[in-house]
Amino acid sequence: MTAQMLDGRALAGRIEASLRGEVDTFAGMFRRKPRLVVVLVGDVAASASYVKSKAAAAARLGMDSAVIPVAATATTADLVALVGSIARDEHGHADGILVQLPLPPHVDQVAVLDAVPPDRDVDGFHPENAGLLSQGRPRFIPCTAAGVQRMLIDAAIPTAGRHVVIVGRSDIVGKPLALLLAQRPPPGCPADGAGGCDATVTICHSRSGDLGRFTREADILVAAVGKPGLITAPMVRPGAAVIDVGINRVDGRLVGDVDAGPVAEVAGWLSPVPGGVGPMTVAMLMANTLLAAELRLGRG
Ligand code: NAD
Repeated sequence: MTAQMLDGRALAGRIEASLRGEVDTFAGMFRRKPRLVVVLVGDVAASASYVKSKAAAAARLGMDSAVIPVAATATTADLVALVGSIARDEHGHADGILVQLPLPPHVDQVAVLDAVPPDRDVDGFHPENAGLLSQGRPRFIPCTAAGVQRMLIDAAIPTAGRHVVIVGRSDIVGKPLALLLAQRPPPGCPADGAGGCDATVTICHSRSGDLGRFTREADILVAAVGKPGLITAPMVRPGAAVIDVGINRVDGRLVGDVDAGPVAEVAGWLSPVPGGVGPMTVAMLMANTLLAAELRLGRG
């Protein structure tokens, strides 16, 4: 079997094209553009590159964005105060506020993320947004989880009654994705089972032991760990959909968590790295920023 590639770059392009029209309508109605403000702490090359692609996507869509660089020596109190000042629109209006992760180890990441007002929390990490998602009435869905769900829906990969195994339990990817795919169909979800919901979900993590025992049972296998080559071909059920969220740099090359060549011979679908989940994450961030602007101006 040779897996069908899930082209996240192409899908993100189609999503951007439809968002562009909505951004135009917003700008025409409110005489201003939706605006994203990003806090970038320190000098981490990967973070700078992610922030650059977010700003570039905003520009392609006709949105405004600003990046506020902060020294790596900033304290938790400095960052909480900065986020507060952004929330008071002291850096221009801010519909969406995003603090690029990771933060330096001396900073209390939870305290900084909690300082982002939940109605501008376009990453969906605030406890209020996490709570809404867990209750099946999401507002801002964490972008990577939303992107993976959208890929499954777009490829018409059924989820209802299917077994999804997610490797990785982070608050950013694994946990919100598990909640999202296990939820009941929200209004508008297609009834044919290809709606990205109603799945039976298993979450694996660093203490799960023999991962293959679980992953071989998966109709849909999601790898979100950050370990190159973690998922090998014998761990994949023939015909399964394999979604590779991992981003790792190996010898200057970007690779995921999946041993892509051999796994493509077994899987039914495979998302590549790069060009899979990454561009979808950015597209979902843009959708969340537009939603934040609409909610703020009373149209959401
Ligand atoms: P994290 O470090 O917060 O979480 C990693 C998870 O993997 C943890 O839950 C841990 O329990 C689990 N884990 C670690 N070793 C394991 C093992 N041997 N077996 C099973 N589970 C194990 O990471 P994160 O923020 O969730 O990111 C995960 C990966 O996804 C990273 O490579 C990150 O760069 C990538 N990522 C990609 C995107 C994207 O847009 N494509 C977005 C976010 C994160």
